[in-house]
Amino acid sequence: MTRPFYESKSLAEMSKDEWESLCDGCGKCCVVLLQNADTDQVWRTNVGCKLLDLKTVRCSDYGARHAKVPGCVKLSPDNISDLHWMPDTCAYRLLAEGKPLFDWHPLISGDPESVVRAGISVRGDLVSERDVDPDDLEDHIVED
Ligand code: SF4
Repeated sequence: MTRPFYESKSLAEMSKDEWESLCDGCGKCCVVLLQNADTDQVWRTNVGCKLLDLKTVRCSDYGARHAKVPGCVKLSPDNISDLHWMPDTCAYRLLAEGKPLFDWHPLISGDPESVVRAGISVRGDLVSERDVDPDDLEDHIVED
Protein backbone atom coordinates (compact mmCIF):
# COMPACT_ATOMS: atom_id res chain seq x y z
CA MET A 1 0.00 0.00 0.00
CA THR A 2 1.28 3.51 -0.84
CA ARG A 3 2.04 5.73 2.11
CA PRO A 4 0.16 9.05 2.18
CA PHE A 5 2.09 12.16 1.19
CA TYR A 6 2.26 13.45 4.76
CA GLU A 7 4.24 10.35 5.71
CA SER A 8 6.32 9.93 2.59
CA LYS A 9 7.29 13.53 1.74
CA SER A 10 9.11 16.23 3.63
CA LEU A 11 7.30 19.56 4.04
CA ALA A 12 9.56 21.05 1.37
CA GLU A 13 8.66 18.30 -1.11
CA MET A 14 4.90 18.80 -0.87
CA SER A 15 2.83 20.38 -3.63
CA LYS A 16 0.90 23.56 -2.87
CA ASP A 17 -2.36 21.59 -2.57
CA GLU A 18 -0.77 19.02 -0.26
CA TRP A 19 0.70 21.78 1.87
CA GLU A 20 -2.64 23.58 2.17
CA SER A 21 -4.46 20.35 3.04
CA LEU A 22 -2.27 19.93 6.11
CA CYS A 23 -4.15 22.74 7.85
CA ASP A 24 -6.77 21.07 10.04
CA GLY A 25 -8.72 24.32 10.34
CA CYS A 26 -8.42 24.50 14.12
CA GLY A 27 -8.12 28.30 14.00
CA LYS A 28 -5.63 28.43 16.87
CA CYS A 29 -3.05 30.37 14.87
CA CYS A 30 -5.58 32.99 13.80
CA VAL A 31 -6.01 34.68 17.15
CA VAL A 32 -4.35 37.71 18.65
CA LEU A 33 -1.11 36.80 20.41
CA LEU A 34 0.47 38.79 23.20
CA GLN A 35 4.21 38.75 23.73
CA ASN A 36 6.30 39.83 26.69
CA ALA A 37 8.95 42.11 25.19
CA ASP A 38 11.53 41.13 27.82
CA THR A 39 11.10 37.35 27.93
CA ASP A 40 9.57 36.72 24.48
CA GLN A 41 6.92 34.57 26.20
CA VAL A 42 3.81 34.40 24.03
CA TRP A 43 0.22 34.02 25.17
CA ARG A 44 -2.73 33.10 23.02
CA THR A 45 -6.02 34.94 23.47
CA ASN A 46 -9.61 34.09 22.66
CA VAL A 47 -9.68 37.11 20.33
CA GLY A 48 -9.93 36.14 16.67
CA CYS A 49 -8.12 38.11 13.97
CA LYS A 50 -10.32 40.74 12.33
CA LEU A 51 -10.37 38.65 9.14
CA LEU A 52 -11.38 35.43 10.87
CA ASP A 53 -14.88 34.14 10.19
CA LEU A 54 -15.89 33.10 13.71
CA LYS A 55 -18.51 30.64 12.45
CA THR A 56 -16.03 28.59 10.42
CA VAL A 57 -12.75 29.74 12.06
CA ARG A 58 -11.39 30.12 8.54
CA CYS A 59 -9.85 33.29 7.13
CA SER A 60 -12.46 35.34 5.30
CA ASP A 61 -9.86 36.77 2.90
CA TYR A 62 -7.13 34.14 2.70
CA GLY A 63 -5.62 35.45 -0.55
CA ALA A 64 -5.17 38.99 0.74
CA ARG A 65 -4.47 38.19 4.38
CA HIS A 66 -0.86 39.35 4.34
CA ALA A 67 -1.76 42.65 2.72
CA LYS A 68 -4.61 43.30 5.11
CA VAL A 69 -2.97 42.01 8.30
CA PRO A 70 0.73 42.89 8.22
CA GLY A 71 1.51 40.68 11.22
CA CYS A 72 0.01 37.57 9.58
CA VAL A 73 2.85 35.08 9.19
CA LYS A 74 3.08 33.03 6.01
CA LEU A 75 3.96 29.49 7.06
CA SER A 76 6.68 27.76 5.10
CA PRO A 77 8.95 24.74 5.49
CA ASP A 78 11.71 27.22 6.30
CA ASN A 79 10.05 29.08 9.16
CA ILE A 80 7.74 26.54 10.83
CA SER A 81 10.46 25.34 13.22
CA ASP A 82 10.98 28.89 14.47
CA LEU A 83 7.31 29.58 15.20
CA HIS A 84 7.22 28.25 18.75
CA TRP A 85 3.84 29.82 19.41
CA MET A 86 2.15 27.50 16.95
CA PRO A 87 -0.02 25.00 18.85
CA ASP A 88 1.54 21.60 19.46
CA THR A 89 -1.41 19.99 17.68
CA CYS A 90 -0.73 21.88 14.43
CA ALA A 91 0.02 19.50 11.55
CA TYR A 92 2.82 21.70 10.21
CA ARG A 93 4.54 21.74 13.58
CA LEU A 94 4.00 18.02 14.16
CA LEU A 95 5.53 17.05 10.81
CA ALA A 96 8.38 19.53 11.20
CA GLU A 97 9.16 17.83 14.54
CA GLY A 98 9.03 14.38 12.94
CA LYS A 99 5.77 13.43 14.70
CA PRO A 100 2.69 11.79 13.14
CA LEU A 101 -0.66 13.49 12.65
CA PHE A 102 -3.38 12.80 15.19
CA ASP A 103 -6.15 10.47 14.12
CA TRP A 104 -8.67 13.32 14.31
CA HIS A 105 -6.85 15.14 11.50
CA PRO A 106 -9.20 15.43 8.48
CA LEU A 107 -6.62 13.80 6.21
CA ILE A 108 -6.97 10.68 8.36
CA SER A 109 -10.56 10.88 9.59
CA GLY A 110 -11.92 12.11 6.25
CA ASP A 111 -14.18 14.50 8.15
CA PRO A 112 -13.34 18.17 8.96
CA GLU A 113 -15.75 18.01 11.90
CA SER A 114 -13.50 15.51 13.68
CA VAL A 115 -11.31 18.48 14.67
CA VAL A 116 -14.27 19.98 16.51
CA ARG A 117 -15.31 16.68 18.11
CA ALA A 118 -11.77 16.18 19.39
CA GLY A 119 -11.95 19.56 21.14
CA ILE A 120 -9.09 21.00 19.09
CA SER A 121 -10.98 23.66 17.16
CA VAL A 122 -11.53 27.09 18.69
CA ARG A 123 -14.86 27.34 16.89
CA GLY A 124 -17.40 28.80 19.31
CA ASP A 125 -14.72 30.02 21.72
CA LEU A 126 -13.74 33.33 20.17
CA VAL A 127 -14.73 36.97 20.06
CA SER A 128 -13.63 39.18 17.19
CA GLU A 129 -10.76 41.62 17.34
CA ARG A 130 -13.25 44.09 15.92
CA ASP A 131 -15.22 43.97 19.17
CA VAL A 132 -12.40 44.14 21.72
CA ASP A 133 -10.68 47.23 23.08
CA PRO A 134 -6.90 46.74 22.56
CA ASP A 135 -6.38 47.81 26.18
CA ASP A 136 -8.45 44.82 27.32
CA LEU A 137 -6.53 42.12 25.42
CA GLU A 138 -4.77 40.82 28.53
CA ASP A 139 -8.18 39.91 29.95
CA HIS A 140 -8.61 37.50 27.03
CA ILE A 141 -5.51 35.34 27.57
CA VAL A 142 -6.36 31.63 27.48
CA GLU A 143 -4.54 28.59 28.83
CA ASP A 144 -3.65 25.78 26.44
S1 SF4 B 1 -2.70 26.05 13.98
FE1 SF4 B 1 -2.01 24.87 12.17
S2 SF4 B 1 -3.67 23.43 11.77
FE2 SF4 B 1 -4.52 25.04 13.12
S3 SF4 B 1 -5.41 26.60 11.71
FE3 SF4 B 1 -3.29 27.20 12.13
S4 SF4 B 1 -2.08 26.30 10.45
FE4 SF4 B 1 -4.05 25.26 10.48
